[in-house]
Amino acid sequence: MSLKHILVVEDEPSIADNITYALKLDGFKSTWVVLGQEGVDVVQQEEVDLVILDVGLPDISGFEICKNIREFSDVPIIFLTARGEEIDRVVGLEIGADDYVVKPFSPRELVARVKVILRRSNNQRVSKTISKAFMIDEAKHQIKYCNTPLELTAYEYGILKVLLNQPERIYSREQLMEQIWSSPQERFDRVIDTHIKTIRAKLRVINHNDNSITTHRGIGYSVKLR
Ligand code: CA
Repeated sequence: MSLKHILVVEDEPSIADNITYALKLDGFKSTWVVLGQEGVDVVQQEEVDLVILDVGLPDISGFEICKNIREFSDVPIIFLTARGEEIDRVVGLEIGADDYVVKPFSPRELVARVKVILRRSNNQRVSKTISKAFMIDEAKHQIKYCNTPLELTAYEYGILKVLLNQPERIYSREQLMEQIWSSPQERFDRVIDTHIKTIRAKLRVINHNDNSITTHRGIGYSVKLR
């Protein structure tokens, strides 16, 4: 089992030290960054299971960072807010944070909250961020594109999910059908082409410049992430 990875975005080294130490004692792996933008980059580039996000950061406010992350990820976020700033709490939860902790706080208590949220999110979310543009929610059988849920048929969902799970890999029509169609009688090449056409149309409703799916003549299809 791999260690859960917690990202800590906090500009005060002593607070960050306390948090990362408490996380380590409980068997978590953590990454500490000082700037909000660095935090966004880490969420984009690495597997992060939860973000602890200070509201008062030197470059961009934690609220902006949270909104930014929510554009492409539903990773759980806990805000660290200054004492007495009730408004922070309300705003934080409204823009998509999962919880908040008021400074000064006990690192042990914060870690306890982390565990509760991870347990909750393990049960609820089976969603995966593929890129800034695509997010797959397996539990709901849903794919979001640019944060908008696509209205896909079961076959369209299956095709797009297979392509997205291995970006750049070229799948032949046969390979796609083997992965998605249960009954061999229904399999014929044109069916894939038709579904690809409707998936493209649906993506272009959301972003009319969409070019995510590439046709490889005589071979098949792949997905290219921006
Ligand atoms: Ca701060």
